[in-house]
Amino acid sequence: MDPEPTTTVPTATDTVQLPPQIDLSYVTSEPTANGTHTPPESGDNYPVFCRIAAYLNTRCPTGNFTLTYLTEGGANTIWLIRFSPSSNLYLHDSKLILRVRKDIPTTIPMATLRTQFEEHIVPLFQFDPGLLLPVHLIEINDRIEQTLNAQLRDLETNGQRKEMRRGIYHAPFDTEPYAMLMPNLAYGDGKVIEFKPKWLMQSPSAPRDAQRCRTCALNAMRRETKQGSGRGDSGFCPLNLLAQNDQILIEALRHIWSDEKTLEAFMGKFKQRVQPALSHLQRLQFKDNGVGLEDFRTPETRDFSVAMALRDCSVVLKATTSQQINEIQIPLVKFIDLDLKDSRGGKVKKWANIEQDLITGGWYSSQNHLGVQCAISRTPSNPVS
Ligand SMILES: [Zn+2]
Repeated sequence: MDPEPTTTVPTATDTVQLPPQIDLSYVTSEPTANGTHTPPESGDNYPVFCRIAAYLNTRCPTGNFTLTYLTEGGANTIWLIRFSPSSNLYLHDSKLILRVRKDIPTTIPMATLRTQFEEHIVPLFQFDPGLLLPVHLIEINDRIEQTLNAQLRDLETNGQRKEMRRGIYHAPFDTEPYAMLMPNLAYGDGKVIEFKPKWLMQSPSAPRDAQRCRTCALNAMRRETKQGSGRGDSGFCPLNLLAQNDQILIEALRHIWSDEKTLEAFMGKFKQRVQPALSHLQRLQFKDNGVGLEDFRTPETRDFSVAMALRDCSVVLKATTSQQINEIQIPLVKFIDLDLKDSRGGKVKKWANIEQDLITGGWYSSQNHLGVQCAISRTPSNPVS
């Protein structure tokens, strides 16, 4: 699998360099006279920020709001929405991000994305809908789109936009009238941690004597051949995130929780709060496990869109540490990046080629650990070494 680099929220260790804000007061209009908003169904004249206020279930702001570039992935840019400090809005502690689609042939219109999400993903998480992010479409206008494009160009000029992202801007307003409004998980207290659980099931076409799971096999191949090195490689076997053995689990968690003093406490909460969610993801992957080499060779009869989304989503969790050392709470666990995977553009062939390379290159069967103890290689008599 070779996903587009995903858009991520900042992690605890990231320093986000925020460029200047864009003041959007001139593309929005004043709220209604009494400061409340009466949401019409839609319409170009309806102030965008009043729609945001509606989403927040709060009064329509009397001030302005700003959009600040936060990050971007292959398909979208992410903007931090902030109301100006002079606003007398009661926003409580809510903060939002705006996800805006890029103008690339393979990106899918926001309205379609949301429909796909509601029809194919939401039903899979009915046991705990809180694991998914609430998503809200918001109509933007062409001036906002143009303003954001101008901001991307400024970022390029200032060297604040990654080279690989340059030259690509947002989809024109007449083809994409919507943006996606989502909670900003990085807002507020606590450390935000993001990781990709990847394949929590072995590949159906892995050899029977495999010593590595699909993720460890791919990471090993990429590390050794220096192809796509580091991409999606968390440095641990994802199956170990489900380990009940404390020693094994703690070795994996060390890659996502850097504070050694509180690592054990974090592990305790991880077992309680995160492992049940990961177990559910594993069950979903098990039910949608037609992702072996033979499956990829007969793509016309299959739909990989959900199966591959389940294997490329991210987990975001928020951990808070109380004053009293060793007290850790994980108040938030979410799955993100659950857009259905598009099989167009030779993706299925690519998946098939990767699987073929893993098998013929012996990447599943190799007993060389390369520093990562894959769960597949453990034997009952030697569970840890
Ligand atoms: Zn593994």
